Amino acid sequence: MIPISSISFDSRVEELVLEVLRSGMIAQGPMVARLEESFGELIGAKHVVAVNNGTTALAAALEALGIGPGDEVITSPFTFVATINAILQVGATARFADVAVDDFCVRPASVEQLVNGRTAAVLPVHLYGQCADMPALAAVAEQHGLALVEDAAQAHGATIAGRAAGTWGTGCFSLYATKNLTSGEGGLITTNDDELADRLRVLRNQGMRERYVYEMVGHNYRLTDLQAAVCLPQIARYESNVGQRQRNADRLTDGLRDVPGLTVPEALPGRRHVWHQYTVLIDPIEFGADRGELARSLTERGIGSGIYYPRVAFDYDCYAGLDQIVEDPVPIAEQLASRCLSLPVHAGLDDDAIDRVVAAVRECAGGRS
Ligand SMILES: *Cc1c(COP(=O)(O)O)cnc(C)c1O
Repeated sequence: MIPISSISFDSRVEELVLEVLRSGMIAQGPMVARLEESFGELIGAKHVVAVNNGTTALAAALEALGIGPGDEVITSPFTFVATINAILQVGATARFADVAVDDFCVRPASVEQLVNGRTAAVLPVHLYGQCADMPALAAVAEQHGLALVEDAAQAHGATIAGRAAGTWGTGCFSLYATKNLTSGEGGLITTNDDELADRLRVLRNQGMRERYVYEMVGHNYRLTDLQAAVCLPQIARYESNVGQRQRNADRLTDGLRDVPGLTVPEALPGRRHVWHQYTVLIDPIEFGADRGELARSLTERGIGSGIYYPRVAFDYDCYAGLDQIVEDPVPIAEQLASRCLSLPVHAGLDDDAIDRVVAAVRECAGGRS
């Protein structure tokens, strides 16, 4: 079986977890601080604030930036629902800019069209491990005086114009089990703003600066040292993990780029893609099978695949009619959602495994056409 994602932990993780267990102090402590420092070095961010998951990272970032009821946040419709839920959690209203077909991320021009007097923030999602067009999005945010919050849950170490995801605005990363870096559940907020970092640290800990001195109404958003110990050693080998993902992506592309009706993903010029997902687009007529048939035929051959995401994020009954959701027209995102399929690309795969994936996709195409 070749799964769509897999994780393996080396002995360093086992040792560090054991160290925390034996210390008798398993809640937030020195290991969380080491994780924050190490991640800050990895991506070049001045401050890192660890929290209990990626959704919390987004909600805490918005709250600390003062975004709440009455404010509009312009985000991507082509994302995991966590992005929307975080906006709703702080009481703000979600607006949706359409995405580009080449990077699956919001188009700066469609963001700009939605800006109005209520707009408070732009929240691009760096989907699949590739940065959105941040130079242009940062310019839009700056021009209109908007906060810039990045959903970098899938983009640890991705860069554009030499600058990492999470360092253009307030960065929100997830350490969920399937992400490129993981602690099981966890999140990291990055910022170069001293005051914002300070507010986030207080907000994370019940609004408490010193013991039983409450400065604001806060939350319990803390990560534990046990979780930090799972993630910390992965940072040291992260560059080689991404290198393997990149080699796997290149090999998939070499093997699949000439298949009719199949569009392979691209790392755009000036961007470092960290290949959280390798997502192809299927044209069912030309390919000779739709993506459901391709997924089933891959499963029959022991190969996992995934649909990220089958519909635009707000297209569910639970969001219909909510005042806080504006269903902006997003035809490109809808089209991508109906045609995308992600193939295994993770660092646990070698050339033979990738060749099996390529052969299985080609067989499915050939068998039908
Ligand atoms: C995983 C993910 C999140 C949420 O992270 P959790 O740690 O699961 O809360 C948010 N946005 C995107 C795009 C994600 O992929």
